[in-house]
Amino acid sequence: MQTHNLGYPRIGSRRELKKASEQYWAGKLPVQQLLQTGKAIRLQNWQLQKNAGIDLIPCNDFSFYDQVLDTSLMVGAIPERYHTLMEEKQLPDIDLLFAMARGYQQDGFDITAMEMTKWFDTNYHYIVPEFTANQKFSLYCNKTLNEFREAKQAAFNAKPVLLGPVSYLLLGKEKEEGFHRLELIGRLLPVYLEVLKQLDESNAHYVQLDEPCLSLNLSEKEQEVFIKTYREIKQKLPNLHIILASYFECYGQNLQTALSLPVQTIHLDLVRCPLQLNDILSTDFVKAKTRLSLGVVDGRNIWKNDFQQSLALISKAVGKIGTERIWIAPSCSLLHSPCDLDMETDEQTLTPQIKQWLAFARQKTDEVVALKQLASGEDTVAANIKLQENIRANASRSTSSLIHNPEVKQRVNAITAKDDRRENVFAVRKIKQQEALQLPLFPTTTIGSFPQTTEVRSWRAALKKGTLTQEQYNERIAKETAEAIRWQEETGIDVLVHGEFERNDMVEYFGEQLDGFVFTKNGWVQSYGSRCVKPPIIYGDVSRPAPMTLKWTAYAQSLTDRWVKGMLTGPVTILQWSFVRNDQPRSKTCTQIALAIRDEVTDLEKAGIKIIQIDEPAIREGLPLRKENWQQYLQWAVRAFRIAAGGVKDETQIHTHMCYSEFNDIIQNIAEMDADVITIECSRSQMELLNAFSDFKYPNDIGPGVYDIHSPRVPSKDEMIALMEKAIAVIPAEQLWVNPDCGLKTRHWEETKKALKAMVEAANALRLSVGENVL
Ligand code: GLN
Ligand code: ZN
Repeated sequence: MQTHNLGYPRIGSRRELKKASEQYWAGKLPVQQLLQTGKAIRLQNWQLQKNAGIDLIPCNDFSFYDQVLDTSLMVGAIPERYHTLMEEKQLPDIDLLFAMARGYQQDGFDITAMEMTKWFDTNYHYIVPEFTANQKFSLYCNKTLNEFREAKQAAFNAKPVLLGPVSYLLLGKEKEEGFHRLELIGRLLPVYLEVLKQLDESNAHYVQLDEPCLSLNLSEKEQEVFIKTYREIKQKLPNLHIILASYFECYGQNLQTALSLPVQTIHLDLVRCPLQLNDILSTDFVKAKTRLSLGVVDGRNIWKNDFQQSLALISKAVGKIGTERIWIAPSCSLLHSPCDLDMETDEQTLTPQIKQWLAFARQKTDEVVALKQLASGEDTVAANIKLQENIRANASRSTSSLIHNPEVKQRVNAITAKDDRRENVFAVRKIKQQEALQLPLFPTTTIGSFPQTTEVRSWRAALKKGTLTQEQYNERIAKETAEAIRWQEETGIDVLVHGEFERNDMVEYFGEQLDGFVFTKNGWVQSYGSRCVKPPIIYGDVSRPAPMTLKWTAYAQSLTDRWVKGMLTGPVTILQWSFVRNDQPRSKTCTQIALAIRDEVTDLEKAGIKIIQIDEPAIREGLPLRKENWQQYLQWAVRAFRIAAGGVKDETQIHTHMCYSEFNDIIQNIAEMDADVITIECSRSQMELLNAFSDFKYPNDIGPGVYDIHSPRVPSKDEMIALMEKAIAVIPAEQLWVNPDCGLKTRHWEETKKALKAMVEAANALRLSVGENVL
């Protein structure tokens, strides 16, 4: 029995990589020092894993930006637009890498970055490879070999990790018509073979090829490409031990294909999909020689492993195929876990009671080793102490009164069908709301946040430090809010917002006020490049001890005769952007959050707020990787939103907001959320979303974003009119709102004011030109 790890976090336990990269980009750190930081992190990670007792330690899991981008560099898939830059500037690899990831705007160059998108269903983002029909590949940068040599030289038993060739192609995009990227496999594979050969010659023995696309719905043709590719690898490199790794889902309908690939070890994510072990053990596979890597320690969450449960899975496999063919591993790369629980020393933030239930990357490697010791009967005394400790900690979690709140459970059980719907259908509500609100045609509004200036952020930092009292802080926020209200009135916006100046982050702000959440000081996880997130931990039943937004919303409403829209984050988004408890289904946790938000909604209504927005930007990213599981997720996710929104009178107008991705394929489910108004990102795609409306009649009101808030560029009134006219062509004018794509917190006031003025003028012009026909 062996242990191995699929990948380790590369940001450094003190976010050293983030700090060094950002300093380097700002021109404040010499390149040598950046490279040195990378090397130090690698050596430290290897040492930590070796100390933990991991047998096979991953290398080439490090990256200065992203492992998919590294692969593009490895195979020389460098888009044309960087070629002049390379020739004229002779950029070193590291600068070329950053130019591809971040764009290059200096010395007269203005080259756009490559696209970035989510890595499967994680919050990590990768740089999307770009392919052309006559795409050529050649070995450009052999980082894999370099890092393997570096590890070997430092005497680590290293296993190079590479993104597999088929997934690499599948994760990319064709940049022109007339071909499919998988057709490029014949040209790509020789480069991979060359890299593998060099590794083989350098005595790598083992290579892990990640093929996470085996967790997706694959066509027969795509599966065939897998088979052909791996046969060729086997044929050319018969002695290299290939570990095939997929994760985040079951192999599902690809299982037969995966099992038939001529690899020496196949990795299973038994956290996401424990049942597939039975399927595999009951096939002919049992007779084969292939080894099984059992991913029993969750690489995606922060909970301590349940040793008894893992050991049950391991012994099932051992019973069928014996210890020799079993490897123990985390479910996926630990890239998605925070680095080290030992860094959490602030007992106020994270109490010892809760801390004992957690394990971050470093602790997870210990768990992998302990499980091997327990399963193989090695080092029995020490292992048994670990087992007892594990049982004790998990037992204290399962029975803790901190986690279990009978009142919350009762409330969830008591939800009835009428709680997730409004009193009347939208057509009835629309009339009542119009009577109550008296809004013009094409009402204008914004998405919630106004610029979070350095000044505003400095107040919050000062409050945390104690150099500003709560009172002083509140005074300043109040003044900022009052100014925002006054400016919106002057500009003639119809539905105002308070500006969200008091909020650090749209999930953290609510998490901090809800029971059942806890926050870490250093629990950072890489999101993309140098960008890290620190998700809250939902450890217990969620409830709302007191109103969360009432004060600022009511204050803002008291300043104006226009309507101020209350602003909340929805249950699915709060769930999606947190570490979620694993002792109950996500749907249940989501329902609990929904009830807490529902209480806030009804409190806002009672306080006289007539319009309330519940943001759900993350609803789409919660979609399962396999289509056959979509409906189940959408059912509970949509229901959670409806529960949050369902407690108000017909007259109260509920808005929702979404952004970040395409919605065309789930537009029907979005309609089922039954928000009175949805504001949705649209402008960057030139209203591509509207295509969905040709076959589907969206029933409620909708505000397709008319300007892109991601750039400081101020759009003209005419541009916005043109976009609205596109919308009017497919959606009745009476259903349309006029608003930006998303919140404005990352913008400056200067461009924000100009853009919103133009937006109001656009709405006025439309009222004149289109209005007559409608009324
Ligand atoms: N109300 C939030 C804001 O305006 C919405 C943010 C989002 O969609 N991500 O900032
Ligand atoms: Zn948004």
